[in-house]
Amino acid sequence: MATDYRAMIPALSLRNQAFINGKYVPAAAGKTFACISPIDGRELTQIAACDGEDVNRAVAAARAVFEKGSWSACHPGKRKKIMLKLADLMLRHKDELALLETLDMGKPIAASSGGDIPGAIQAIQWYAEAADKVYDEVAPYRPDSVSLITREPIGVVAAVVPWNYPLMMASWKLGPALATGNSVILKPAEQSPLTALRLAGLAAEAGLPEGVLQVLPGFGETAGQALGRHMDVDMVAFTGSTAVGKYFLRYAGESNMKHVSLETGGKTPNIVFADAGNLDHIAKVSADGVFYNAGQSCNAPTRILVEDSIKDEFVALVAKHAKPWTPADPLDPATTMGAVVDSDQMNRVLGYIETGRTEGASVALGGQQVRRETGGSYIAPTIFTDVRNDMKIAQEEIFGPVVVAVSFKDEADAVRIANDSIYGLQANLWTRDVSRAHRLARKLKAGTVVVNNVWGSDITNPFGGYKQSGIGRDKSLHAMDKYCQVKNTYIQL
Ligand code: NAP
Ligand code: MG
Repeated sequence: MATDYRAMIPALSLRNQAFINGKYVPAAAGKTFACISPIDGRELTQIAACDGEDVNRAVAAARAVFEKGSWSACHPGKRKKIMLKLADLMLRHKDELALLETLDMGKPIAASSGGDIPGAIQAIQWYAEAADKVYDEVAPYRPDSVSLITREPIGVVAAVVPWNYPLMMASWKLGPALATGNSVILKPAEQSPLTALRLAGLAAEAGLPEGVLQVLPGFGETAGQALGRHMDVDMVAFTGSTAVGKYFLRYAGESNMKHVSLETGGKTPNIVFADAGNLDHIAKVSADGVFYNAGQSCNAPTRILVEDSIKDEFVALVAKHAKPWTPADPLDPATTMGAVVDSDQMNRVLGYIETGRTEGASVALGGQQVRRETGGSYIAPTIFTDVRNDMKIAQEEIFGPVVVAVSFKDEADAVRIANDSIYGLQANLWTRDVSRAHRLARKLKAGTVVVNNVWGSDITNPFGGYKQSGIGRDKSLHAMDKYCQVKNTYIQL
């Protein structure tokens, strides 16, 4: 039987305090902020607003357990067991977690229950399994010596995450950071703290030692900045906007030179050649990719680059396939597109739509707020044509259900336009010519190149950007390295 999510709401108990050293506690200064649902604009609860003093307490707890070694220096098999238990508990509470995610940030319940929560569980499980399967190295050095290359946990890691896939982004950090033995302080985005706070309790139940995981809800300028500038935080693992990513580089430079890994913005080109084949299928996959999560995906294929000769036909097909992405009630299991995360974000996206019109681009579909009567934040799927790549709507990350179509002449033109961006997270290309696919894959400046699809990778694939899309990689075994120091121990025999 299908889960009745609405019926679960009255019994839902929302964790709204910070989680420090194994306990839920109010913010030291006693401050709170409103947690609003973008479904209908209603307040769900008041959340602890952590700041510098809470950060000090969280860092002290994280440091103490790290130095004690009950997690950082335990048998990796123990870490595996506890993390697998956590994944089991997440699975047991999957409906509750999905409902929290949907209420908090407005994505459809079908997406949170079918995408976000299973993705988060997979991340914890996968890194749990890796904990006791990754080996260190011995260097091929002189025969009268032994040269060991070992990985040690880096120490106290601050994970600062955005609101678009709240629990999944957190799990991409927690998985490798915890599996390698670090202590973690997680700061969720102010718009979406509920699943992170619930996760803390589940981690304690799974047997994670006190102090290994703290969750500090609060604002970026206070809690986030205090983590970035703290002298006893060894690393910040950040996902969010490019502008805030740069702040973290500055914080590190002005404090203790902590390691900073950044997963930031994107403006993925989705290059469609006339030889690509079934245009109807390509248009459907492209529309699905860009409108999923109301366009709030860092690697959403938001820049359609289409060969001149098929431009009008292709844009018309994308518009046709945008129809099923009509915003509706996020709690209805049939809904494909929910709300955008809050009214600020809605107004930002509507501002970009206005800019596009002013710049001279044409709206081929959508372009307005919908479902006003609900009190929530909803935008119709929007397509711009007659776009030049130097327009603001083609250069800046809009982070809403808006796609722009730019045409190109030939292969060289396509590559030039695709790479004409400050971002380099992902690039997609559609062609049946295998040589062209390889040729372009080498020329596109992006951490991920997808041929004949738009996305769909899971935790096994590394993910991260070139240029201002970030520094470092999440997911896959590559992600584990960044949470470790590499130590060389050289022994003369
Ligand atoms: P954001 O505004 O950069 O916020 C991200 C996190 O940084 C939040 O926890 C935020 O806290 C915190 N923060 C904000 N200002 C800060 C400051 N001055 N000092 C320290 N911390 C600060 O990003 P967002 O709007 O939540 O998320 C959307 C962005 O994330 C998009 O640019 C998207 O492309 C990017 N993203 C990238 C990836 C990837 O893997 N590359 C994945 C998902 C999303 P508050 O919420 O309290 O402001
Ligand atoms: Mg919220």
